Amino acid sequence: MSRTQELAQGLDAVRARVEAACATAGRSTAEVTLVVVTKYFPAADIARLHRLGVRDVGENRDQEAGAKATALAADPATAGLRWHYIGQLQRNKAASVARYADLVHSVDRPGLVGALDHGAQRAERRLDVLLQVDLDSLAGDNGRGGATPHDLPSLADQVAASPGLRLRGLMAVAPRGQPARPAFELLARLAAALRVEYPDASLLSAGMSADLEDALLCGATHLRVGSAVLGSRPPLG
Ligand SMILES: *Cc1c(COP(=O)(O)O)cnc(C)c1O
Repeated sequence: MSRTQELAQGLDAVRARVEAACATAGRSTAEVTLVVVTKYFPAADIARLHRLGVRDVGENRDQEAGAKATALAADPATAGLRWHYIGQLQRNKAASVARYADLVHSVDRPGLVGALDHGAQRAERRLDVLLQVDLDSLAGDNGRGGATPHDLPSLADQVAASPGLRLRGLMAVAPRGQPARPAFELLARLAAALRVEYPDASLLSAGMSADLEDALLCGATHLRVGSAVLGSRPPLG
């Protein structure tokens, strides 16, 4: 089987899961964006995915993402890709990410808001961002980034006051070693509370290969799916 056939199979299987879960939840698949997480995989896979209709791709390391975005932007055959930055982000990488990212999912602290705002303004862009919520912090564990629910309102106010940024919603990763569903339900309540003050913050990024059904039932608008489409990730290069 060719790599393109392999990717097509993975994509078909994920799209079928999304359709089934949307049917169960009484939602339209048109409300859902499948972000295919291509981290660690070569730009050639992104070009193959583009031919299969994928336009939204997710990356979590600036150097790798920037190189792929530059390479693929030069090729008219891969026009229209949208880049989702989903990883923990250092301040010194913020200006770079602000140049090519279409949506940054992982804004979680005041220093990063300032750096992204500055970078976006220098790039003469208005950058869409999500606030990442740390659902692990509730279990006393943390390590994958994210603001505590308690810190969200002030972070939201800071983004809303940043001329280079646009607050579009929330993102989270399900807590380790616990059922995803109650965590995503909490995330949905936090998102609803945020929308009272910021109606444009209507996006909810939740759900990965293992738990996209739970996320869709809880209102996710953006799924971040890697291994279910691309297979297991190659070791860090
Ligand atoms: C890698 C990654 C994903 C994709 O995970 P899979 O289990 O391969 O679907 C989603 N979200 C984030 C934040 C990631 O780092």
